[in-house]
Amino acid sequence: MDFDLKDIRQLSMSELESFLVGMGEKKFRATQLCEWIWKKGAESFEEMSNIPKPLRDKLSEIFRFANVACVYSVASVDGTCKFLFETADCCRFEGVLIPSADRVTACISTQVGCQMGCAFCATGQLGFKRNLTSGEIFHQVFSLNRLSSEIFGFPLSNIVIMGMGEPLMNYENTLAAINMICSSNSMGMSPQRITMSTCGIAPQIKRLADDAIRFNLSISLHSAIDSKRNEIMPINRKYNLALLSDAIQYFHAKTGSRITYEYLMLGGVNDSIDDARALTEFTKVSPCKINIIEYNPHPGDTFRRTNSDSLEKFIRHIESCNIVVTIRKSKGLDIAAACGQLANMKK
Ligand code: SF4
Repeated sequence: MDFDLKDIRQLSMSELESFLVGMGEKKFRATQLCEWIWKKGAESFEEMSNIPKPLRDKLSEIFRFANVACVYSVASVDGTCKFLFETADCCRFEGVLIPSADRVTACISTQVGCQMGCAFCATGQLGFKRNLTSGEIFHQVFSLNRLSSEIFGFPLSNIVIMGMGEPLMNYENTLAAINMICSSNSMGMSPQRITMSTCGIAPQIKRLADDAIRFNLSISLHSAIDSKRNEIMPINRKYNLALLSDAIQYFHAKTGSRITYEYLMLGGVNDSIDDARALTEFTKVSPCKINIIEYNPHPGDTFRRTNSDSLEKFIRHIESCNIVVTIRKSKGLDIAAACGQLANMKK
């Protein structure tokens, strides 16, 4: 593969159209080409049977397809399927399909590795390699959509951006991919079915508000006490809880959206009643929902699960403050389904 060539999926539809018209081609050719790339998920020019061969040859001298290939997959007894993808330059990242009674949710990655270094996260241990491009993120989603239809008999209903990487550290590529996923000329997914999760890059949360995003935002909080959050999420040393709260209030004022907080229960670390009080105090600044997540231990880590008694008391406190709270059971425990675990193992 010639890496000097530009990935054709990184052009927007209008850019591609202008490019073809500039080459002297008719506008309808651009429509055909866009359909192959964005609707049919073509992975090469050869597949494009209604595009004349001379034009395909010309385009393949200018562009390439930076496809992501599924190199390994594993299925859990609970139905969760995890896939290890590889980019053209041999970088590996993960995507997961999580089926439930009436839908399939894809959990997708936006970076290869991550530089945020959260103490409980296997991806953090991998270090950071590079951002995924918008074309690679789109192709990952398209591939998961195809896999969902093959395995479960229906396409993706929801997407959560909670896989490897911090999406707000790859802002432009992630938003470009989301725009493409939501375009009626492509997968046509409603932005309301997409949730982006961030560890709390405060200025970028404000940027999302200024960009008037229509997808959902969730904050990986995991502690509402600065000294504790500093330990488990180093990003808190740069953007502490006061800055994060300010960004969240700005986001809510501009978008009117309800924030979801993710709270990973770590036994003996963030699961006391004082932690629960700090959490409800922090989250009361705007309408919200709290998602309690049970911890998925991985080989060699120091964290453990919260016991059921502490979990129950914690949840009771949140409910007593009239905040909507749900418990997310860990899925795919038998297949290392938490973020980064599979890539770590295959590494
Ligand atoms: S939890 Fe998310 S932000 Fe933190 S290290 Fe893992 S991938 Fe990065």
